[in-house]
Amino acid sequence: MHGSQIDYRARAGYADRLILPPMRTRCAKKMTQSDLDNIKHEIPHQSPLQPVELDADSEIQFDCHKGISCFNACCRNIDITLMPYDILRLKRRVGLTSSQWVANFTVPYPMDAHEMPGLKMATKAGSSECVFLREEGCSVYEDRPSACRYYALGSMGVRRVASAKVDDIYFLVKEPHCKGHDEPKRLTVGQYRNSQGLEKYDEMNREWRDIVLKKRSAGPTIGKPSARSMQLFDMCSYDMDNFRDFIATDGFSQVFALDADEQTALMKDEDKLLLFACRFLKQVLFGEMTIAVKADGCRARLEKRRRASATSEQENADRE
Ligand code: SF4
Ligand code: SF4
Repeated sequence: MHGSQIDYRARAGYADRLILPPMRTRCAKKMTQSDLDNIKHEIPHQSPLQPVELDADSEIQFDCHKGISCFNACCRNIDITLMPYDILRLKRRVGLTSSQWVANFTVPYPMDAHEMPGLKMATKAGSSECVFLREEGCSVYEDRPSACRYYALGSMGVRRVASAKVDDIYFLVKEPHCKGHDEPKRLTVGQYRNSQGLEKYDEMNREWRDIVLKKRSAGPTIGKPSARSMQLFDMCSYDMDNFRDFIATDGFSQVFALDADEQTALMKDEDKLLLFACRFLKQVLFGEMTIAVKADGCRARLEKRRRASATSEQENADRE
């Protein structure tokens, strides 16, 4: 294994960073808000993450297979944060809409102090076992989430000082129950990622990760985000069925100038739709203009909002 020793708590020259997918680790106790804040902002003090930064060429020693003595141990006490592409894959697998899948198989949690909406994988009733775990193993293996694919690696998006770019770095996650580290197989991080089908997952989740990182980096400087921006974040992250309906509305086409071919492609292809949802979020949240807007439509919408707000103020005044 090669890599450089780093001190996370000293920030190690990073302008900001985000552990994604957050570690799929065991939790000995129920998490408090302060624990959650620590996990999102700093690697916890007793973290199983090994303090060595790895890249795609770094070599690790690890193997996981059905005959191993700890088979399924990592799925029996889970803490898995879900990412948008995880939800797309899993809801398609079981034939539910996004909102049905989210309602049945996830638990909401706040990703930051502004309550940016996050989702964790649900566990079986009265247990900390993953809902998809069966005696013979994972029942959704081909569509398992990114965090399950990464384990026993952790991945982190880091923005280095004076850089706008977010880089991917990796860490080994060593937990006592996981015997995969004692297996003789040696391979590079890149080979491990390929074996787990992570390229597609990372490609699909990368823009979203950048949005989360950027939104969090902005922190108190832009104040508390509006309820509307949180609703948009929620829909664009976790509800592609609703987002598809949204871009088919007159209100959307009044403001945004999508050409007919692009609109058709988005209606047919949910992967494309998710990438477009991230562009839309970046435009709405950070003003990164990649979707053409219609000046007349924007003016008409602003005027409509102004009239609605004036009417509501008048109604409040009349009531007093
Ligand atoms: S989705 Fe599958 S691999 Fe992931 S924790 Fe659940 S059972 Fe285990
Ligand atoms: S080797 Fe590690 S990842 Fe594989 S089943 Fe055992 S605990 Fe899970």
